[in-house]
Amino acid sequence: MELIDKVIILKTADHKEKNKTLTVFGLKNGLNNLLARGIKEKNAKLKFLGLPFVFCEVELLSAGGAVIKTATLIESFSNISKSIEKYESACFCTQAILILGQKDEEGGLLFKLFLEALMKINSDEDGFEWQHAVSFVLTALSGSGYKMIFEACVACGDGALSPAFLNFVSGELLCRNCASNGATQVKASTVETFKKIERGAFNDISAESLGSARKFLNQVFISIFDRKLI
Ligand SMILES: [Zn+2]
Repeated sequence: MELIDKVIILKTADHKEKNKTLTVFGLKNGLNNLLARGIKEKNAKLKFLGLPFVFCEVELLSAGGAVIKTATLIESFSNISKSIEKYESACFCTQAILILGQKDEEGGLLFKLFLEALMKINSDEDGFEWQHAVSFVLTALSGSGYKMIFEACVACGDGALSPAFLNFVSGELLCRNCASNGATQVKASTVETFKKIERGAFNDISAESLGSARKFLNQVFISIFDRKLI
C-alpha cells in the first residue's frame, strides 16, 4: 500500500473503546479497512474521520499495516447528511463502490467519478440527487466493463426493447424474442428513464420513474455480482 493516499470514507465501525475501523476508497490503494486510533475521544484531532463521505488525505504508519498515522480533511460533504434524499442517494453510490471498487484498475477512474458524484449530490439545490446517483452508477458499471445498452437488444441488435427483459447472468437487456423463459420484464418507461439520464434530461423524470430505475439497477447488481445496491 502507498503510505499517503487520498481517500473517501464509505462506512465506519466502532473498534474497542476509543477507535474506529474505517472502510475507505482510496485513489491509489482502492478499497481498504483502516484503523483510526483514538478518534472517539472527546477532543480527538482526527474526529472528522468518524463520518461517512469525508474526503481526506491520510498517512499510514507503515506500508504493510493499515493504521492511520495522521489525516488532513479536504472536504466533509456535510450537506449530504442534512437531507434524507441526498443521504440515501449518496449511500446508493457508496454501495456501488463497495461492490465495484475491488477492480478500480484504470488509474483511479472510479475514484474520480465517485468524488464527482458526491460533489454534485452535496451541492445540488435542484433536487436532482437521484438523477446524479443513477447516472454515476451507470457510468461506474460501464467503467468496470459492464456497459448497459438501452437502445437495442444486446443479443440480436433489434430495436424493440418495449418491454425489455433482463438477462440474469450478464445483467444486460434483451428483446422479447431473445429473452429466456422466466426472464424479468423491464417496463419500457424504465428504459426511457435511463435514456433520459444518459443524455442529461434530468428535468423530465418523475420520482416514480427514478424509483423504478433504482430497483432495476439493484436487480442488475444482484444478477451480475450477487449483491444488493439497496
Ligand atoms: Zn433480441
